[in-house]
Amino acid sequence: MKTSSPWLQRVAALYDSKRRDFNWRLAPDGVIHHHNGLVYDKAAFLRRVKCGGEAGKARIHAAETALSELGFKYLGRPRPGMALLDAGCGRGGSSLLLAEKYAGLKITGVTVSAYQAAAARAAARGRGLAGRVRFSRASMLALPFKPASFDRVWACESTEHVPDLRLFFSEAGRAAKPGARLVIIAWVRNAAHAEGREYARLADKAYVTKIHAEKEYLEACKAGGWKLKVKKDLTGPTAAYWAGRLALGDGSGTESFMAPGFASRALLYRLYAYDLVE
Ligand code: SAM
Repeated sequence: MKTSSPWLQRVAALYDSKRRDFNWRLAPDGVIHHHNGLVYDKAAFLRRVKCGGEAGKARIHAAETALSELGFKYLGRPRPGMALLDAGCGRGGSSLLLAEKYAGLKITGVTVSAYQAAAARAAARGRGLAGRVRFSRASMLALPFKPASFDRVWACESTEHVPDLRLFFSEAGRAAKPGARLVIIAWVRNAAHAEGREYARLADKAYVTKIHAEKEYLEACKAGGWKLKVKKDLTGPTAAYWAGRLALGDGSGTESFMAPGFASRALLYRLYAYDLVE
């Protein structure tokens, strides 16, 4: 990997260590998500999840897939032949779903974790998508791609790991084509909430993140020439998802603070879509 700071090494070590983890246990279909879910009928969701077992886990997984599908709508309709960068691709969940949704899309995923890149390649082979998605170990802050390589950039719950967002926006702006669309989905610290800092601190400690306040997503984008087009609040539906994880009682162990963090809106869940100025 081109740049590997002590911080990136810590992020990589975290994801290298997550193997037979909660996310993996949720995904017998091989599409492993490392992101929140969305739930719109909390009472029905809690009833089903409380039954526990595989059925409960399947509901949680379906809520996570619902987040991916909602986010994809903000990518616009990628045309065949277009190139998409999955910036911080995890074990490839979003890339695999995108490859199945858009047959002609050329997809490249990068992650700082060598284990994740290998796991994503294996998942692509398992779903017969190996020729259509590529995964490598690389930093999205020093991408090994020529300028203007991508028409779309997808960054789902990865920018929380970037201490200085200007570096991400600027590198994504270099690697993207003029007019490109960038979709970011992120945990955001609510700067107006008395407990925003405390919940962000708990999450940062558990996940090796530096959760940003919204102002940073609105201002740092200018460093890369990105213009904000859409801002969508998903805090309510994700608070219901975390309530379900708490009710399941067999999660990752972070539910005890993530569930109240989103329920109180000390943490916000946002989708931002930006266009690269032409
Ligand atoms: N986007 C995936 C998803 O939604 O399932 C994974 C999200 S996971 C919470 C965060 C991901 O960001 C991990 O794959 C991690 O390796 C990646 N990441 C963090 N910092 C990165 C960096 N500087 N360059 C590339 N990937 C990074």
